[in-house]
Amino acid sequence: MQTNLVQQFANTAEGQEAESILRACVHCGFCTATCPTYQELNDERDGPRGRIYLMKQFLEGAEITEKTREHLDRCLTCRSCETTCPSGVKYGRLVDIGRGLIEKELPRSPKEKYLRWALTRVLPNRRLFGLMLRLGQVFRPVLPEPLRSKVPPRKEASPWPAASHSRIVLALAGCVQPSATPNTNAAAARVLDKLGITMVEAPQAGCCGAVNYHLSEHDRGLEQMRRNIDAWWPAIEAGAEALVMTASGCGAMVQDYGHLLRDDPVYAAKAQKVSELTVDLGAFLLKQDLAKLKIGQNPGKVAFHCPCTLQHAMKQNGVVDQVLRKAGVELAETRDKHLCCGSAGTYSVMQPEMSQRLLANKLKALTIDNPDRIVTANVGCQMHLETKAQVPVQHWIELLDS
Ligand code: SF4
Ligand code: SF4
Repeated sequence: MQTNLVQQFANTAEGQEAESILRACVHCGFCTATCPTYQELNDERDGPRGRIYLMKQFLEGAEITEKTREHLDRCLTCRSCETTCPSGVKYGRLVDIGRGLIEKELPRSPKEKYLRWALTRVLPNRRLFGLMLRLGQVFRPVLPEPLRSKVPPRKEASPWPAASHSRIVLALAGCVQPSATPNTNAAAARVLDKLGITMVEAPQAGCCGAVNYHLSEHDRGLEQMRRNIDAWWPAIEAGAEALVMTASGCGAMVQDYGHLLRDDPVYAAKAQKVSELTVDLGAFLLKQDLAKLKIGQNPGKVAFHCPCTLQHAMKQNGVVDQVLRKAGVELAETRDKHLCCGSAGTYSVMQPEMSQRLLANKLKALTIDNPDRIVTANVGCQMHLETKAQVPVQHWIELLDS
C-alpha cells in the first residue's frame, strides 16, 4: 500500500520501519479470518487490516482519538494475523511501534496510567511479585471470588539436579514463573539432566522485558534486555550451547533482542548472538535422543494448548506435540488451535471482558475430547487457563519428569 508519513515520523528509525511494514500490506483482508477480536466483535477496526489502517492514518498525520486507541488496545498482539498473512506483514512490530508513538501523543486517564505503572513495576520485579502472590495465596480463602480465581494455589518445585555434565544450556528464571509455577524450570533441568545436559540459570537475569516493551515503556524494556545479556554473557563465552526457553512469551521476546538492539553500539552484536542461541524447550528436545525419555506415570489423555507466542511468534507449531507423542503421551483432539486463550501478557488485566470471552472459547475448544489434563508452554497461559479449567493445568515438561 502507498504511504506518505508526516515529517515527524518519516525521519526516524521507528517511522521508517513502520512505513516498510505498512507498504508490505496489500489490504487483502485474509488476516481478519483468524483474528480473535474480529471474530468476537465483527468490526473491521477490531481486526488486523483495520488496525493497520488506523496506524497508517496516525503516521500520516490524522488526529488520534480515544476511540482509535481503544481498537488498538483491544488487540492481543497474538500475531495470529502474521501466520495467516500471505505478504509477510510484521504486524507485531507495527503495533508495538504504533502504540509507543501514540502513547506519547495521547495521554492516558489517571486510572489507566496508574494501572499501567503498577503492572510495569510489579510484574517484572521477581521479589515483589513473589511477595504479593504469597500474600494472595495466604488470604485466598477470604478473597472475593473475582480475585480469588486469579490467585493460583501455591506450587512447590522439586529439587534441581546437580550440575554434572559438560553440555551446558542457559535457562531464564524470568519474573512471574519462579513464584507462580516454580516447578517448570526445575522439571526442565531434571529432564535435560537425564539426557546428559546441565541447565543453569543466571541469577542476575530477570524479566525478559516483554511486560514493559509491550506496554509501550520501550526504554525500560530495553534496559532489562541489556541487563539479561550482561547476565548471560559469561556463560555464553564459556560455551553454553543454547538459551533454552520454558516460557514461550519470554522466548519470543528474547529472539527479538537482536532486532530491537540492532542500533545499540555496545549491545548490538551480543544481542544478535543471544537471539541466535535462543530456542524453545520443545524444539531443543526434539533434536536430542528422546528414546531416553519415557514417562513413568500415565498422565491420561492430554490436551495441549500451543501459546500464540510459540506458534505465531517463534513459529514452532506442532513441535511440542511431536515431543509429547514421542514420549508416549496420548494427545486429545482440540479445535481452533490458532486462537488466543485471552491471557496475552497483561491483556487479562487490561481487557478483562474480552479476555474472559476468549478464555471460555478456548476451554471449550480444548475439552471437546474430554482430556484428563491440559498442558501448555507459557506461564501466562497456564495461570489464565487454570482460573476456569475443570481439569489440572500444567507445563508440558512436567509430564516428562515423572
Ligand atoms: S496484513 Fe497481510 S493478510 Fe492482512 S490485509 Fe495486509 S497483506 Fe492482507
Ligand atoms: S495480533 Fe491478534 S488480536 Fe491483534 S490484530 Fe493480529 S490477530 Fe488480531
